[in-house]
Amino acid sequence: MKLRATSLLGPVAGVVLAAVMVMGGVFVTAERYYLNQLAEEAGASIELQRENLAGWLGRFRALPSVYSRHPALLAALDAPDDGALRDRLNILLESWTYSTGAEESYLLGIDGRVLASSSGDTRAGRNMGHRPHHFEAMQGRLGRWFEVDARTRLRGYHFSFPVWRGSEVAGVVVVTANVGDMEDELRLSPDEVFVTDARGLVVLSGHPDLRLTQIGSSRDGLVVPVAGLTTDLSEGEFELVRGRADRSDRKEQEFVHLVRPVATEGWMLHLLAASAQAHTKAYVVVALSGLIATVIALAGLLVGARGRLLHDRLLAGEREGRLLERKVAMRTADLSAANQSLAREVRDRSAAEAELRQTQNDLVQAGKLAVLGQMSTALSHEFNQPLTAIRSYAENATAFVEQGREDRARENLERIMRLTARMAQLSRRLSNFARKPAEGMQDVALTDVFDEALGLMAARLTRAGVKPRITGLRNGLTVRAGAIRLQHVLMNLIGNALDATEDTLNPAIDIDIREDENGVNITVSDNGPGVPEELRESIFDPFFTTKEVGRGVGLGLSISYNIIRDFGGRIRVGVSDQGGARFCIRLASTDEQVAVE
Ligand code: ADP
Repeated sequence: MKLRATSLLGPVAGVVLAAVMVMGGVFVTAERYYLNQLAEEAGASIELQRENLAGWLGRFRALPSVYSRHPALLAALDAPDDGALRDRLNILLESWTYSTGAEESYLLGIDGRVLASSSGDTRAGRNMGHRPHHFEAMQGRLGRWFEVDARTRLRGYHFSFPVWRGSEVAGVVVVTANVGDMEDELRLSPDEVFVTDARGLVVLSGHPDLRLTQIGSSRDGLVVPVAGLTTDLSEGEFELVRGRADRSDRKEQEFVHLVRPVATEGWMLHLLAASAQAHTKAYVVVALSGLIATVIALAGLLVGARGRLLHDRLLAGEREGRLLERKVAMRTADLSAANQSLAREVRDRSAAEAELRQTQNDLVQAGKLAVLGQMSTALSHEFNQPLTAIRSYAENATAFVEQGREDRARENLERIMRLTARMAQLSRRLSNFARKPAEGMQDVALTDVFDEALGLMAARLTRAGVKPRITGLRNGLTVRAGAIRLQHVLMNLIGNALDATEDTLNPAIDIDIREDENGVNITVSDNGPGVPEELRESIFDPFFTTKEVGRGVGLGLSISYNIIRDFGGRIRVGVSDQGGARFCIRLASTDEQVAVE
């Protein structure tokens, strides 16, 4: 963990440093942008104030020259001691003053004495001689004098003009502008606006503290920005100064400082706009961009984390996939091993089966021979009897031929032919039966199988006096089997039934065939002693016999059992209605290889 934390420190510090640098860059750019914007707004504001100021100054500059042409002035100058004339002029001056918004208007004699005034006689007798504005006007020019009373801090802006009598200056008319009005207007501006004269003295300001302050000075108690102000800023330029807006301000703040020259006066108009808002906006921009960057970074982290998660999952998936593949490979190996062993087993089994079949075939053969052996007595009788008959018929025929009795001879010969045909049939059956079958499964007609079996058994049956009763056998009924093998099974069952009923008074063998939708049941019942229950399991075992030596070898049922099983069927022993044995063979229907119950 420690190692991880240490290794993370570098990248994290790098990211933080990069973020700080970017944020710093954003802040500087945003601050510059908003300061420029502020300066632009302030520029518009200062232009407005300049227009305003120029209009104000222009108005008062023009007034004296207009007044000077009024004849009342010259009349008053001509009769300086005429009280009535003076009174009238006083009223006239007062009305002018009132209507122009000036502070005061008055008439000076060439010696500088106040001859009439808008404020009545209060100034009467006062001598304004040698004041700059009187002096200028006496020179025949427009005179201007910004009067400052350092003691009372009162200011008056006097505009003067000569009153001409012909080409002579007869007197001077003076209009004193109302500085307070202008300053009231300056005060309306949200920014600090003030005017300095050519010496850098604040001559007009809405701020009383600022008035008559020398910019560049740092007099205690004065508003500080003034101390750092420069006046050589051209239009479009601004400087940043720090200071308090007024005395009540505790903290210094920053201002954007703009300067514009005021035409003709040699004055400079200053504007100080608090820049706090620009900084605040820059901070907001930084905060917002920081927020946005954080959101983007978080989103990036999330996406990254999700990507990592997906990647991990993918890796895990791949790992699992590989594991699965390995498992599958192992299973496949197991399976193929199992398959191989299965194939081996199948091979072994089929070999064993082939061997078994061989053995079984051998057994069948042995069984057949046994049956033939058993049948030999009956067979010899079967053959001897017709042979004896044939011999007699032949002798008869010879005699009849000698006697010329052809018809009788023919009759005997025909009997011989019938007998030989019967013998030929028996012989064919015997050879069929004795032959080793190589038959497969086919649709076997049950009637044929019974015909053959009963044909071969005919001599034995006749001898025993038994005529099997066959029920339910319809023509065309077929089963899926091998004809010779099924015939062998039936002959075994019928033979056993004959053996069993040997001592029965009225021996009877019933053969019943029943069909259902899935197969065929062949039942061979007799009225013999039956098979005791305890022996029912054993009678299908090879070489199990209860018969005396020479009569039975105990293979018949064992072979029959295997043959029927090969057919996909089964053979069972039970009790017949007459209390004897009942053997039931179930074979599949030929239509389908339907399971036999
Ligand atoms: P084998 O006839 O040579 O004895 P099988 O395998 O044909 O051999 O018969 C085995 C035994 O089953 C017989 O010995 C006999 O005890 C009994 N068995 C067969 N069929 C019958 C039957 N129909 N009734 C009574 N017992 C029978």
